[in-house]
Amino acid sequence: MDYDALFQTQLDALKAEGNYRIFAELERQRGQFPRAISHSENTPDQVTVWCSNDYLGMGQHPVVINAMKDAVDRFGAGAGGTRNISGTNHAHLLLERELADLHGKEAALLFTSGYVSNWAALSTLGSRLPDCIILSDELNHASMIEGIRHSRAKKVLWKHNDPKDLEAKLAALPANAPKIVAFESVYSMDGDIAPIREIVEVAEKYGAMTYLDEVHAVGMYGPRGGGVAEREGLMDRITLIEGTLGKAYGVVGGYITGSVALCDFIRSFASGFIFTTALPPAVAAAAQASIAHLKASNTEREAQRQQVARLRAKLDRAGIPHLDNDSHIIPVMIKDPVKCRQLADILMQDFGIYVQPINYPTVPKGTERLRFTPSPYHSDADIDHLVAALTTLWKRCAISHAVA
Ligand SMILES: *Cc1c(COP(=O)(O)O)cnc(C)c1O
Repeated sequence: MDYDALFQTQLDALKAEGNYRIFAELERQRGQFPRAISHSENTPDQVTVWCSNDYLGMGQHPVVINAMKDAVDRFGAGAGGTRNISGTNHAHLLLERELADLHGKEAALLFTSGYVSNWAALSTLGSRLPDCIILSDELNHASMIEGIRHSRAKKVLWKHNDPKDLEAKLAALPANAPKIVAFESVYSMDGDIAPIREIVEVAEKYGAMTYLDEVHAVGMYGPRGGGVAEREGLMDRITLIEGTLGKAYGVVGGYITGSVALCDFIRSFASGFIFTTALPPAVAAAAQASIAHLKASNTEREAQRQQVARLRAKLDRAGIPHLDNDSHIIPVMIKDPVKCRQLADILMQDFGIYVQPINYPTVPKGTERLRFTPSPYHSDADIDHLVAALTTLWKRCAISHAVA
């Protein structure tokens, strides 16, 4: 059996449809965000990163770096085991308290990533609650889909951000079965925001639990960075809030928050929590410092909002179409995987602008896009440079269309 040939056939098919992924090899430079050294071929030595999920540059914030360094000096590198077997460090508990407070919940539980937290929490809830039915927004993230699948619970998809459709689906289900309504606040690819209040009201009416992924909102929305639910005053009406420490908080890790009983239940039964080494204490300490900083400081959020508005206005003035939404995510639609990659390649090679093309399976085929995420550290000059580059490329495309 030639296994490599089997692998290669599928890789070749992926390449033929333009969906083969090429990673940019970068070297982030402390204190220079969003600048990075590029180690990829045919690129300038230094590029400006326009697609980072370190939305507020906290991965390089002195408060976060110093907390991590201090913790390494005090506690060493690794946690030493699973949470159950000698891996629970004081830093994990401090972080869990910080997270519970962030979301106004009784308790929190840490995981090694946001992906794992969704996967483990949903698979445990869905498999352990007898006859549980999970109602999942049709555009939920892969980590939620995989968790639900793994739970083998009955799954009902409802139309994206549509509380009426959710209500119709809930009304058709047995009244006494446990139900979980799973959804996100900020959807990261279109940047649209869920009508959380309406969804919560429908869920309450039918006695369903609510499971909210605030991965793209924590740190960035709400007066203390508690997410969109905090901004809308709805945190106490949501059963479980899930988030990441890897995006706006700039470190790594995931978590859930909720009641003591809920977190204890997941802690006690979730394989994805029990059987894996705990996060390094220094990671926990850095994340805690980042959360605490963003609870108290609005500076980063305000500066980010300003640069997001600025980029949008400049794109409008240049006639470059982008999806309209109320978040910090600016998708410029290309709608073709090959063109999307080519544009990204030219931006990188000729203009030192790094934006990863977003192709299938991250988004449906035919909706390929460039997704820009301005941070507080993208300067006005960076924005001007980006818009000028896009304008040049749009003209070039228009010319090639005319000739063809
Ligand atoms: C990135 C992402 C996750 C996973 O979080 P990680 O900490 O990166 O594993 C979960 N949900 C959504 C919506 C995401 O975009």
